[in-house]
Amino acid sequence: MKALVKSKAERGLWIEEVPEPTIGIDEVLVRVSTTGICGTDVHIYAWDEWAQKTIPVPMVIGHEFVGEIVAIGSNVNSFAPGDIVSGEGHVICGRCRNCLAGRRHLCAATQGVGVNRAGAFAEYIALPVTNIWRHSPGIDREVAAIFDPFGNAVHTALAFPVLGEDVLITGAGPIGIMAAAVARHAGARYVVITDINPHRLELARKIGVTLAVNPRETTLGEVQKKLGMMEGFDIGLEMSGNAQAFRDLLANLSHGAKVALLGIPSPSELAIDWNKVIFNQLTLRGIYGREMYETWYKMTVMLESGLNISPVITHRYNWREFEAGFEVMRSGNSGKVLLDWRDAG
Ligand code: NAD
Ligand code: ZN
Repeated sequence: MKALVKSKAERGLWIEEVPEPTIGIDEVLVRVSTTGICGTDVHIYAWDEWAQKTIPVPMVIGHEFVGEIVAIGSNVNSFAPGDIVSGEGHVICGRCRNCLAGRRHLCAATQGVGVNRAGAFAEYIALPVTNIWRHSPGIDREVAAIFDPFGNAVHTALAFPVLGEDVLITGAGPIGIMAAAVARHAGARYVVITDINPHRLELARKIGVTLAVNPRETTLGEVQKKLGMMEGFDIGLEMSGNAQAFRDLLANLSHGAKVALLGIPSPSELAIDWNKVIFNQLTLRGIYGREMYETWYKMTVMLESGLNISPVITHRYNWREFEAGFEVMRSGNSGKVLLDWRDAG
């Protein structure tokens, strides 16, 4: 089959012919139809320090996808060929304390699809049945392809109750923008998002936020004044991975505010004012991946009850044009970028 492979330990990705995956008794085989490009894939393409120490080559990459089940293992009875599915990108061990307790998102030995094991940028992907999410009828196929990052957004945005609260989101990347839409859907009063990229601020406005702000032009203090806020934001969602954005966020929270951290900062830059955390009695919570499968359930029912995240999808390419897709991702002037695999093979 055709696949997009990190086949050499250097910058780039290559379309290659690789063997079709075989399935074990507890696995399913999915014919991939549409995939999303994640920032992780861009790191793997660039072969940066993280990628060099994480990715064994050769590796079929990619983890955001939708497709159709074409074969099931002999132990699988809850799924059938023809089901439209996506895959949870974290394959858990099933045996650690958290897994056994049902806290599967806290597994101590998670493997990443398209990172530590063969991924979805291919005609077919094989996954354990416990990693498969069947889409409800009526879920848009393109939105289904991005359930993985949408799940990051939902997991973070719903980490704390937002009903009636004022929410500050730093970073209007695709995940920050989806989180903004979720926070509004979940009943926040004000949803303010920041970014330094005007293209992304515009995209955030399109999906619907109270204010989309460039912190280099407008301070968050000014934003608070403009909105008539007195005591700071109640909920902070850090989705930029930028240390300065995180410091700005901490400086604009109410006492007792709660912060969910999804963005991955460079540890060397991450000096923050811990006195703010202590004296203002802030709660900080790290977020990784999605809850299996509460987040997936919430994504589905929010879409069914009117949440619309489609505008975050800005670019669509055929899989053969993957270079163009990665290029627009690198430019930053995009939301989610999709690759269509339906004509592969
Ligand atoms: P992205 O890189 O597309 O978006 C980050 C945005 O932050 C960009 O638009 C950038 O312009 C903006 N930004 C940079 N400096 C800023 C500043 N000073 N103030 C405000 N905004 C600033 O990333 P994404 O795909 O939307 O993901 C968001 C973050 O979450 C990334 O850091 C990513 O690595 C991380 N992530 C974490 C998980 C997890 O499980 N924890 C999963 C997926 C992604
Ligand atoms: Zn585990």
